[in-house]
Amino acid sequence: MVDSNDMTLRERLKDSKRIVVKIGTSSLTYDNGHINMFRIGHLSRVLCDLVNQGREVILVSSGAIGIGVDKLKLGKKPDYVSGRQAAAAVGQCMLMNIYSQFFAEYGHNVAQILLTKDVVERPESKENVINTFNELIKMSVVPIVNENDTVSVDEIKFGDNDYLSYIVASLVDADALIILTDIDGFYDKNPSSHNDAVLYHNIVDLSEKIETAAGGAGSNLGTGGMLTKVHACRLAADRGINSVIANGEKPEIIYDIIAGEDVGTMFVGKR
Ligand code: GLU
Repeated sequence: MVDSNDMTLRERLKDSKRIVVKIGTSSLTYDNGHINMFRIGHLSRVLCDLVNQGREVILVSSGAIGIGVDKLKLGKKPDYVSGRQAAAAVGQCMLMNIYSQFFAEYGHNVAQILLTKDVVERPESKENVINTFNELIKMSVVPIVNENDTVSVDEIKFGDNDYLSYIVASLVDADALIILTDIDGFYDKNPSSHNDAVLYHNIVDLSEKIETAAGGAGSNLGTGGMLTKVHACRLAADRGINSVIANGEKPEIIYDIIAGEDVGTMFVGKR
């Protein structure tokens, strides 16, 4: 049995000190493409509060391209690479400006870290990145990470921010990875097309078969890209990191997750 009802598994999230939170574009923008300030404000407040509790927080935030498209009034994502990269350059700047202002309201500092795959593949630059993360965390600064979309080409691309969030969680040796999306977690079928879809609660041993089902169910089309999320959580579990996929509609759900409550889908880190 893959899904476990053993709620003591959730207890393991309670001691999480170093937490990586990932939020996607669909949670940061409204359906009409405009920025969801309410959501970003709430997320910022929760993350600042976690730092106040003595936890160490790293945010992986998408949104650069989406916010750039909105700011430049392009109407839709450009269908050519340099257009998307230009939109990302504009959007990333605005995104950080918004985070920076919200965090400042609660007396906290943020830092921007833009990564490409080659940086974490080269031992020397990888070590520098890790040192920078640790230094920022020591200073109680919240690093906000995104892929460096403006320069990344296929060879140096992570591809998606779910995978990037796993990379970041493993670089900083996180206790927990929380992936916030627009559905309640990982279901056995795509809940938007199957009324009888059942939410998994605690996944102890994720087989590749299940992981493939996340894509096969079609849930990677418009409902938050479940395949890439489940893949990131499986990689995290292999490294011993507990992760949770949960609905980011109300960012306060992070409190419930680290209180060990039964929300979202937990992927239990191997011990
Ligand atoms: N890096 C992209 C952005 O900020 C998002 C990639 C993703 O959502 O996976 O727009």
